[in-house]
Amino acid sequence: MAAGAATLKGLPSPKIKDVSVIATAPAGLRLVVVKVTTDQDGLYGYGCATFTQRAELVVQAVQQYLRPLVLGKPADRIADIWRAMYASSYWRNGPVLNNAISGVDEALWDIKGRQANMPVYQLLGGKCREGALAYSHASGKEPAETIDRARAIMAQGFKVVRLQVGIPGMAGYGAAAAGQKPTGAALTEGPVFEPVPYMQRTLALFERARKDLGSEIELLHDCHERLPPRMAVQFAKDMEQFRLFFLEDPLAPEDTSYFRQIRAQCATPLAMGELFNNPNEWTPLIKEQLIDYIRCHVSQVGGLTPARKLAAMAEECQVQTAWHGPGDTSPVGHCANITLDLVCQNFGVQEWTAGDARTQEVFSGYPEMRDGYLFANEKPGWGVEVNEKAAAKYPFGYGENDQRRNLNGGWGEVRRRDGSIIQQ
Ligand code: MG
Repeated sequence: MAAGAATLKGLPSPKIKDVSVIATAPAGLRLVVVKVTTDQDGLYGYGCATFTQRAELVVQAVQQYLRPLVLGKPADRIADIWRAMYASSYWRNGPVLNNAISGVDEALWDIKGRQANMPVYQLLGGKCREGALAYSHASGKEPAETIDRARAIMAQGFKVVRLQVGIPGMAGYGAAAAGQKPTGAALTEGPVFEPVPYMQRTLALFERARKDLGSEIELLHDCHERLPPRMAVQFAKDMEQFRLFFLEDPLAPEDTSYFRQIRAQCATPLAMGELFNNPNEWTPLIKEQLIDYIRCHVSQVGGLTPARKLAAMAEECQVQTAWHGPGDTSPVGHCANITLDLVCQNFGVQEWTAGDARTQEVFSGYPEMRDGYLFANEKPGWGVEVNEKAAAKYPFGYGENDQRRNLNGGWGEVRRRDGSIIQQ
């Protein structure tokens, strides 16, 4: 009997037989899911490796580098395999490799859950809540349109809503612009963004929203790291009066030292971390309690294995979780999110984007949304199955007029009026 076999209670240790990649874009966004198969009949798992802006590089990282490293290894040694993948490139903590690692990591958790015939949350200590408070996005060209959409979302039972509004003539984030020309001449032909009109427009939106939607609904807003840090300090102060659930990404990852100044000057709750790849980005902010919500993208930090450690550290520091959950998360990734939401005492809120009919044709087993709360599908592992024939019907690609077609999924440019590039 092999060492440790007795602890498996009669379950044979599965060996990794193959690692393959499912690359599909049923809703236009490029989803990458890793499938790990084992030497045991019918025992396999899926992991999210979705990084839409560089999706094809993640596919190569899995196929060319991780597959040869993990073939033949025992699939039940997840922590050990995670560390081997992490160390293998020597230079580490980049988004491409982290997503590739996540694909294998989450597939191994799926396999362990399927082998145990339990949802993954049971392997992590079991539920500490029944459902996860979720929020959805309301956006419009005008404040009135955003508020109408918020009302529709509230009517579905949501208790937390993100509000974004377009800026006339400008490329806002999370909301299309009205068609007017920008005020003031621009020295560039392409999309333009200016922070002052954005801040004024957003403050006007929230003033109206609190009047029209009342004080009970929880509201949040995403700055998407577009503000110069000095303006972000002022904006967080100006938004304090609207009693946000949180203000998201008021600063870019490069500017996080300014959180101390925001903290010192207002009580606006702060969420940060969507773009973080590296423990050295989140650790100081959490330890110093400079943020209230950690908002990392689970596959971007390397999968479930590092994300649950991050959540545990945050719990010790009274920082809550708000895992990134937009459309560019695969359904497997959404299931990893809800798993963490259910088992972590310091869960805060879950961003939720429902899959369209095409995505649901490819993937079954989405978490279930009821009355503003997300629920696990209660099936073994992640409970997700992939229809690979349907996935093959939706290869990577965009419409003829979509600039992302030429950029292979990458984002185009947004500039200030003077022609300088902004972060998006
Ligand atoms: Mg965001």
